[in-house]
Amino acid sequence: MKLIQLNGQSGGGQMLRTALSLAMVTGQPFRMTHIRGQRSKPGLMRQHLTCVKAAVEISQGTADGAELGSTELVFRAGEIQSGDYEFAIGTAGSTTLLLQTLLPALWTAKGKSTLRLSGGTHNPLAPPFDFVEQVFLPAMKKFGAEATIRLVETGFAPTGGGILEAGISPTAGLGKVNFTEQGELQATSLRVISRQVSDSVASRLMDAVGKAWTCEKRKIEHRDEGPGQGLIGYAEAHFANGCEMVSGCGERGQSAEKIGHRMGKSMATFMNTRAAVGRHLADQLLLPMALAGGGEITTTAPDAHVPTNVSIIEKFLPVKFSIEDEDGGLFRISC
Ligand code: ATP
Repeated sequence: MKLIQLNGQSGGGQMLRTALSLAMVTGQPFRMTHIRGQRSKPGLMRQHLTCVKAAVEISQGTADGAELGSTELVFRAGEIQSGDYEFAIGTAGSTTLLLQTLLPALWTAKGKSTLRLSGGTHNPLAPPFDFVEQVFLPAMKKFGAEATIRLVETGFAPTGGGILEAGISPTAGLGKVNFTEQGELQATSLRVISRQVSDSVASRLMDAVGKAWTCEKRKIEHRDEGPGQGLIGYAEAHFANGCEMVSGCGERGQSAEKIGHRMGKSMATFMNTRAAVGRHLADQLLLPMALAGGGEITTTAPDAHVPTNVSIIEKFLPVKFSIEDEDGGLFRISC
Protein backbone atom coordinates (compact mmCIF):
# COMPACT_ATOMS: atom_id res chain seq x y z
CA MET A 1 0.00 0.00 0.00
CA LYS A 2 1.22 3.52 -0.83
CA LEU A 3 3.05 5.34 1.98
CA ILE A 4 1.16 8.51 3.00
CA GLN A 5 3.64 11.39 3.29
CA LEU A 6 2.98 13.67 6.27
CA ASN A 7 4.80 16.75 7.51
CA GLY A 8 4.50 17.48 11.24
CA GLN A 9 6.10 20.92 10.99
CA SER A 10 2.92 22.89 11.69
CA GLY A 11 1.92 21.24 14.98
CA GLY A 12 2.64 19.03 17.96
CA GLY A 13 2.14 15.50 19.20
CA GLN A 14 -1.49 15.37 18.18
CA MET A 15 -0.56 15.20 14.47
CA LEU A 16 1.46 12.06 15.18
CA ARG A 17 -1.17 10.49 17.44
CA THR A 18 -3.94 11.08 14.89
CA ALA A 19 -1.76 9.55 12.17
CA LEU A 20 -1.07 6.48 14.35
CA SER A 21 -4.79 6.02 15.08
CA LEU A 22 -5.74 6.35 11.42
CA ALA A 23 -2.93 4.12 10.20
CA MET A 24 -4.15 1.39 12.56
CA VAL A 25 -7.83 1.80 11.64
CA THR A 26 -7.37 2.13 7.86
CA GLY A 27 -4.28 -0.05 7.40
CA GLN A 28 -2.53 2.74 5.43
CA PRO A 29 1.16 3.20 6.29
CA PHE A 30 2.69 6.67 6.67
CA ARG A 31 5.98 8.54 6.84
CA MET A 32 5.95 11.65 9.05
CA THR A 33 8.83 14.12 8.85
CA HIS A 34 9.47 17.18 11.09
CA ILE A 35 7.61 15.54 13.99
CA ARG A 36 6.47 18.17 16.53
CA GLY A 37 8.17 20.80 14.39
CA GLN A 38 6.39 23.65 16.21
CA ARG A 39 7.59 22.66 19.67
CA SER A 40 10.67 24.00 21.48
CA LYS A 41 12.14 20.48 21.68
CA PRO A 42 11.00 18.84 18.41
CA GLY A 43 10.86 15.08 17.86
CA LEU A 44 9.54 12.16 19.87
CA MET A 45 9.42 12.65 23.62
CA ARG A 46 8.80 9.75 25.96
CA GLN A 47 4.98 10.06 25.77
CA HIS A 48 4.96 10.14 21.95
CA LEU A 49 7.39 7.24 21.75
CA THR A 50 5.14 5.21 24.06
CA CYS A 51 2.21 5.93 21.71
CA VAL A 52 4.27 4.60 18.77
CA LYS A 53 5.39 1.48 20.64
CA ALA A 54 1.88 0.79 21.91
CA ALA A 55 0.49 1.20 18.38
CA VAL A 56 3.11 -1.27 17.08
CA GLU A 57 2.14 -3.81 19.74
CA ILE A 58 -1.63 -3.47 19.39
CA SER A 59 -1.59 -3.57 15.60
CA GLN A 60 1.31 -6.03 15.25
CA GLY A 61 2.91 -3.35 13.14
CA THR A 62 6.38 -1.93 12.53
CA ALA A 63 7.98 1.46 13.10
CA ASP A 64 11.26 2.85 11.75
CA GLY A 65 12.61 5.82 13.65
CA ALA A 66 10.97 4.93 16.96
CA GLU A 67 13.60 6.57 19.15
CA LEU A 68 13.67 9.45 21.60
CA GLY A 69 14.24 12.73 19.76
CA SER A 70 13.47 11.22 16.35
CA THR A 71 11.84 13.72 13.97
CA GLU A 72 10.97 11.14 11.32
CA LEU A 73 8.91 7.97 11.57
CA VAL A 74 7.63 5.34 9.18
CA PHE A 75 4.74 3.35 10.65
CA ARG A 76 2.99 0.33 9.20
CA ALA A 77 0.11 -1.33 11.04
CA GLY A 78 -0.72 -5.02 10.82
CA GLU A 79 -3.86 -6.63 12.21
CA ILE A 80 -5.31 -5.09 15.37
CA GLN A 81 -5.34 -7.54 18.27
CA SER A 82 -7.74 -7.16 21.16
CA GLY A 83 -6.21 -8.15 24.51
CA ASP A 84 -4.98 -7.02 27.89
CA TYR A 85 -2.19 -4.48 27.54
CA GLU A 86 0.05 -2.53 29.91
CA PHE A 87 2.05 0.52 28.82
CA ALA A 88 4.26 2.64 31.04
CA ILE A 89 5.28 6.08 29.78
CA GLY A 90 8.12 6.30 32.30
CA THR A 91 7.63 10.04 32.87
CA ALA A 92 4.61 12.21 33.75
CA GLY A 93 3.62 12.13 30.04
CA SER A 94 -0.14 11.98 29.57
CA THR A 95 -1.85 8.57 29.88
CA THR A 96 -5.08 10.06 28.53
CA LEU A 97 -3.45 11.09 25.23
CA LEU A 98 -2.04 7.56 24.97
CA LEU A 99 -5.53 6.19 25.63
CA GLN A 100 -7.06 8.44 22.95
CA THR A 101 -4.48 7.19 20.43
CA LEU A 102 -5.35 3.55 21.01
CA LEU A 103 -9.14 3.74 21.42
CA PRO A 104 -10.10 4.05 17.71
CA ALA A 105 -8.06 0.92 16.91
CA LEU A 106 -9.36 -1.13 19.84
CA TRP A 107 -12.95 -0.17 18.99
CA THR A 108 -12.43 -1.90 15.62
CA ALA A 109 -10.84 -5.04 17.17
CA LYS A 110 -12.65 -8.38 17.23
CA GLY A 111 -12.90 -8.69 21.02
CA LYS A 112 -12.81 -6.74 24.26
CA SER A 113 -9.58 -5.17 25.49
CA THR A 114 -8.20 -3.75 28.68
CA LEU A 115 -5.45 -1.17 29.09
CA ARG A 116 -3.37 -0.31 32.15
CA LEU A 117 -1.47 2.90 31.46
CA SER A 118 0.98 4.57 33.80
CA GLY A 119 2.32 8.13 33.69
CA GLY A 120 0.51 11.42 34.25
CA THR A 121 -3.26 11.46 34.70
CA HIS A 122 -3.68 15.18 35.51
CA ASN A 123 -1.40 17.18 33.21
CA PRO A 124 -1.47 20.70 31.85
CA LEU A 125 -1.90 20.81 28.03
CA ALA A 126 -3.60 17.40 27.93
CA PRO A 127 -7.09 16.13 28.81
CA PRO A 128 -7.18 15.40 32.56
CA PHE A 129 -8.66 12.05 33.64
CA ASP A 130 -11.98 13.65 34.68
CA PHE A 131 -12.36 15.35 31.29
CA VAL A 132 -11.99 12.02 29.51
CA GLU A 133 -14.46 10.36 31.87
CA GLN A 134 -17.11 13.09 31.90
CA VAL A 135 -16.75 14.85 28.57
CA PHE A 136 -14.86 12.83 25.95
CA LEU A 137 -16.21 9.31 26.59
CA PRO A 138 -19.88 10.39 26.94
CA ALA A 139 -19.47 12.18 23.57
CA MET A 140 -17.95 9.02 22.09
CA LYS A 141 -20.89 7.00 23.40
CA LYS A 142 -23.15 9.11 21.16
CA PHE A 143 -21.06 7.91 18.18
CA GLY A 144 -21.73 4.35 19.39
CA ALA A 145 -18.25 3.70 20.83
CA GLU A 146 -17.97 2.62 24.45
CA ALA A 147 -15.15 2.48 26.97
CA THR A 148 -14.96 2.69 30.73
CA ILE A 149 -12.04 4.15 32.63
CA ARG A 150 -10.90 3.91 36.24
CA LEU A 151 -8.37 6.05 38.06
CA VAL A 152 -6.16 3.70 40.07
CA GLU A 153 -3.68 6.40 41.13
CA THR A 154 -3.73 10.14 40.54
CA GLY A 155 -0.48 11.23 38.87
CA PHE A 156 0.10 14.98 38.73
CA ALA A 157 2.72 16.48 36.43
CA PRO A 158 5.67 16.79 36.80
CA THR A 159 5.97 13.76 39.15
CA GLY A 160 3.67 11.34 37.33
CA GLY A 161 3.19 7.93 38.94
CA GLY A 162 -0.48 7.86 37.96
CA ILE A 163 -2.32 4.77 36.74
CA LEU A 164 -5.36 4.67 34.49
CA GLU A 165 -7.22 1.49 33.59
CA ALA A 166 -9.63 1.20 30.67
CA GLY A 167 -12.04 -1.41 29.35
CA ILE A 168 -12.90 -1.18 25.65
CA SER A 169 -15.74 -2.96 23.87
CA PRO A 170 -15.59 -3.38 20.10
CA THR A 171 -18.11 -1.52 17.98
CA ALA A 172 -19.49 -2.22 14.52
CA GLY A 173 -18.59 1.32 13.38
CA LEU A 174 -19.22 4.90 14.43
CA GLY A 175 -22.55 6.55 13.64
CA LYS A 176 -22.87 10.17 12.49
CA VAL A 177 -23.68 12.66 15.27
CA ASN A 178 -24.27 16.41 15.32
CA PHE A 179 -23.26 18.39 18.41
CA THR A 180 -24.76 21.75 17.57
CA GLU A 181 -27.06 22.69 20.50
CA GLN A 182 -26.14 22.95 24.19
CA GLY A 183 -29.66 22.29 25.42
CA GLU A 184 -30.82 23.46 28.83
CA LEU A 185 -28.22 24.17 31.54
CA GLN A 186 -28.64 21.58 34.30
CA ALA A 187 -25.83 22.04 36.82
CA THR A 188 -22.63 23.98 37.38
CA SER A 189 -19.80 23.33 39.83
CA LEU A 190 -16.26 24.19 40.73
CA ARG A 191 -13.96 21.56 42.13
CA VAL A 192 -10.31 21.42 43.12
CA ILE A 193 -8.40 18.16 43.57
CA SER A 194 -5.20 18.61 45.53
CA ARG A 195 -2.35 16.65 47.02
CA GLN A 196 -0.11 18.17 49.66
CA VAL A 197 -1.18 21.71 48.72
CA SER A 198 -2.78 24.05 51.23
CA ASP A 199 -6.56 24.62 50.96
CA SER A 200 -5.91 28.35 50.84
CA VAL A 201 -4.41 27.91 47.34
CA ALA A 202 -7.51 26.01 46.20
CA SER A 203 -9.75 28.72 47.67
CA ARG A 204 -7.82 31.49 45.93
CA LEU A 205 -8.12 29.65 42.62
CA MET A 206 -11.87 29.20 43.08
CA ASP A 207 -12.35 32.84 44.10
CA ALA A 208 -10.56 33.92 40.92
CA VAL A 209 -12.79 31.69 38.76
CA GLY A 210 -15.80 33.16 40.55
CA LYS A 211 -14.92 36.69 39.43
CA ALA A 212 -15.56 35.74 35.78
CA TRP A 213 -18.07 32.89 36.12
CA THR A 214 -20.48 32.05 38.91
CA CYS A 215 -21.50 28.50 39.73
CA GLU A 216 -23.73 26.65 42.19
CA LYS A 217 -21.31 24.44 44.13
CA ARG A 218 -17.69 24.52 45.28
CA LYS A 219 -15.68 21.58 46.60
CA ILE A 220 -12.10 20.67 47.53
CA GLU A 221 -11.07 17.00 47.26
CA HIS A 222 -7.87 15.79 48.90
CA ARG A 223 -5.75 13.03 47.35
CA ASP A 224 -3.00 13.14 49.92
CA GLU A 225 -1.75 9.57 49.44
CA GLY A 226 0.40 9.13 46.34
CA PRO A 227 3.50 10.46 44.62
CA GLY A 228 4.44 14.16 44.54
CA GLN A 229 2.25 17.16 45.13
CA GLY A 230 -0.21 18.75 42.76
CA LEU A 231 -3.45 20.59 42.23
CA ILE A 232 -6.06 20.80 39.50
CA GLY A 233 -9.21 22.91 39.28
CA TYR A 234 -12.30 21.98 37.26
CA ALA A 235 -15.10 24.33 36.24
CA GLU A 236 -17.98 22.17 35.05
CA ALA A 237 -21.21 22.97 33.25
CA HIS A 238 -23.63 20.14 32.53
CA PHE A 239 -26.16 20.67 29.76
CA ALA A 240 -29.00 18.59 28.41
CA ASN A 241 -26.73 17.64 25.46
CA GLY A 242 -23.33 17.30 27.12
CA CYS A 243 -20.80 18.76 29.47
CA GLU A 244 -17.99 21.31 29.32
CA MET A 245 -15.13 21.02 31.76
CA VAL A 246 -12.49 23.72 31.85
CA SER A 247 -9.41 22.79 33.87
CA GLY A 248 -6.36 24.48 35.26
CA CYS A 249 -3.33 22.69 36.71
CA GLY A 250 -1.13 24.14 39.39
CA GLU A 251 2.26 24.93 37.87
CA ARG A 252 5.42 26.51 39.20
CA GLY A 253 5.51 30.22 38.45
CA GLN A 254 1.71 30.45 37.93
CA SER A 255 -0.34 32.01 40.71
CA ALA A 256 -3.65 30.44 41.77
CA GLU A 257 -5.30 33.73 40.79
CA LYS A 258 -3.90 33.58 37.27
CA ILE A 259 -4.97 29.97 36.73
CA GLY A 260 -8.45 30.66 38.15
CA HIS A 261 -8.86 33.83 36.11
CA ARG A 262 -8.02 31.94 32.89
CA MET A 263 -10.49 29.17 33.75
CA GLY A 264 -13.28 31.61 34.60
CA LYS A 265 -12.81 33.57 31.40
CA SER A 266 -12.73 30.44 29.29
CA MET A 267 -15.94 29.09 30.85
CA ALA A 268 -17.69 32.47 30.54
CA THR A 269 -16.78 32.62 26.84
CA PHE A 270 -18.13 29.12 26.28
CA MET A 271 -21.40 29.92 28.05
CA ASN A 272 -21.89 33.19 26.16
CA THR A 273 -21.44 31.63 22.73
CA ARG A 274 -23.91 28.80 23.48
CA ALA A 275 -21.52 26.41 21.70
CA ALA A 276 -22.30 22.71 22.11
CA VAL A 277 -18.66 21.64 22.32
CA GLY A 278 -15.75 23.24 24.20
CA ARG A 279 -12.47 24.25 22.58
CA HIS A 280 -10.59 21.06 23.49
CA LEU A 281 -13.35 18.57 22.81
CA ALA A 282 -13.70 20.21 19.37
CA ASP A 283 -10.28 19.07 18.15
CA GLN A 284 -10.78 15.64 19.77
CA LEU A 285 -14.08 15.03 17.92
CA LEU A 286 -12.65 15.65 14.44
CA LEU A 287 -11.30 12.11 14.15
CA PRO A 288 -14.53 10.36 15.25
CA MET A 289 -16.55 12.65 12.95
CA ALA A 290 -14.35 11.67 10.02
CA LEU A 291 -14.52 7.96 10.91
CA ALA A 292 -18.30 8.24 11.10
CA GLY A 293 -18.28 9.75 7.59
CA GLY A 294 -19.66 13.15 8.57
CA GLY A 295 -21.11 15.34 11.29
CA GLU A 296 -21.27 18.87 12.60
CA ILE A 297 -20.27 20.66 15.82
CA THR A 298 -20.52 24.19 17.13
CA THR A 299 -17.66 25.47 19.27
CA THR A 300 -15.79 28.56 20.44
CA ALA A 301 -12.83 30.00 18.46
CA PRO A 302 -10.79 26.94 17.42
CA ASP A 303 -7.08 26.90 18.21
CA ALA A 304 -4.27 25.59 15.98
CA HIS A 305 -5.06 21.95 16.85
CA VAL A 306 -8.11 22.07 14.56
CA PRO A 307 -6.41 22.90 11.24
CA THR A 308 -3.38 20.70 11.97
CA ASN A 309 -5.54 17.73 12.92
CA VAL A 310 -7.75 18.28 9.86
CA SER A 311 -4.66 18.28 7.63
CA ILE A 312 -3.74 14.77 8.85
CA ILE A 313 -7.26 13.33 8.75
CA GLU A 314 -7.87 14.51 5.18
CA LYS A 315 -4.75 12.61 4.05
CA PHE A 316 -6.15 9.29 5.31
CA LEU A 317 -9.88 9.53 4.71
CA PRO A 318 -12.03 10.82 1.82
CA VAL A 319 -13.56 13.61 3.92
CA LYS A 320 -13.48 17.41 3.78
CA PHE A 321 -13.88 19.73 6.77
CA SER A 322 -15.18 23.29 6.70
CA ILE A 323 -14.96 25.86 9.51
CA GLU A 324 -17.45 28.73 9.51
CA ASP A 325 -17.19 31.78 11.74
CA GLU A 326 -20.72 32.58 12.86
CA ASP A 327 -21.74 35.65 14.84
CA GLY A 328 -20.85 36.16 18.52
CA GLY A 329 -17.73 34.00 18.67
CA LEU A 330 -19.51 30.81 17.60
CA PHE A 331 -17.82 28.52 15.06
CA ARG A 332 -19.40 25.68 13.10
CA ILE A 333 -17.17 22.79 12.00
CA SER A 334 -18.69 20.42 9.46
CA CYS A 335 -17.33 17.21 8.05
P1 ATP B 1 3.32 18.72 22.24
O1 ATP B 1 4.29 18.51 23.37
O2 ATP B 1 3.79 18.29 20.96
O3 ATP B 1 2.63 20.06 22.34
P2 ATP B 1 1.25 16.97 22.96
O4 ATP B 1 1.67 15.65 22.48
O5 ATP B 1 1.11 17.14 24.44
O6 ATP B 1 2.15 17.94 22.36
P3 ATP B 1 -0.77 18.47 21.46
O7 ATP B 1 -0.46 18.24 20.04
O8 ATP B 1 -0.61 19.88 21.97
O9 ATP B 1 -0.03 17.48 22.30
O10 ATP B 1 -2.28 17.97 21.80
C1 ATP B 1 -2.84 18.10 23.09
C2 ATP B 1 -4.26 17.58 23.15
O11 ATP B 1 -4.73 17.75 24.49
C3 ATP B 1 -5.28 18.30 22.27
O12 ATP B 1 -6.26 17.38 21.83
C4 ATP B 1 -5.93 19.29 23.23
O13 ATP B 1 -7.27 19.66 22.90
C5 ATP B 1 -5.95 18.46 24.51
N1 ATP B 1 -6.01 19.31 25.71
C6 ATP B 1 -5.09 20.21 26.10
N2 ATP B 1 -5.47 20.82 27.26
C7 ATP B 1 -6.67 20.27 27.59
C8 ATP B 1 -7.59 20.47 28.67
N3 ATP B 1 -7.34 21.35 29.62
N4 ATP B 1 -8.73 19.75 28.69
C9 ATP B 1 -8.99 18.86 27.70
N5 ATP B 1 -8.16 18.61 26.66
C10 ATP B 1 -7.01 19.30 26.60
